[in-house]
Amino acid sequence: MEHKRYLTLEEYVNGLRETELSERAIQKTIEHERAHFEKAIELGYSPVYALERFYTAGSNLATVMLNAVMFNGKEPSPEHIIHILLAPKVLSGGDLDDALRLRRQINKSKNRKK
Ligand SMILES: [Zn+2]
Repeated sequence: MEHKRYLTLEEYVNGLRETELSERAIQKTIEHERAHFEKAIELGYSPVYALERFYTAGSNLATVMLNAVMFNGKEPSPEHIIHILLAPKVLSGGDLDDALRLRRQINKSKNRKK
């Protein structure tokens, strides 16, 4: 397993091209991750593109395990993470699950304070 981080979209795209994803899948991935990335910048964070790749024996094509936006330095607040998760037009199941889970946690701690 190999973890890679990319500071620019161009490097990230090159990283995706080293995988077995089709060009169409790569384009959809870029569009999706870019929305997370740009929302994070808009909210004042320093995101990086992250890719987790693993190689099966005898193959030099990587399979992508995880596409994500990670943070350099300051970690976003839970409210901001929800905004970042919900930024893409088409959400992944993981984005939606994480956003709902965070929303429930925020609501719970608000109720506790009352
Ligand atoms: Zn996503």
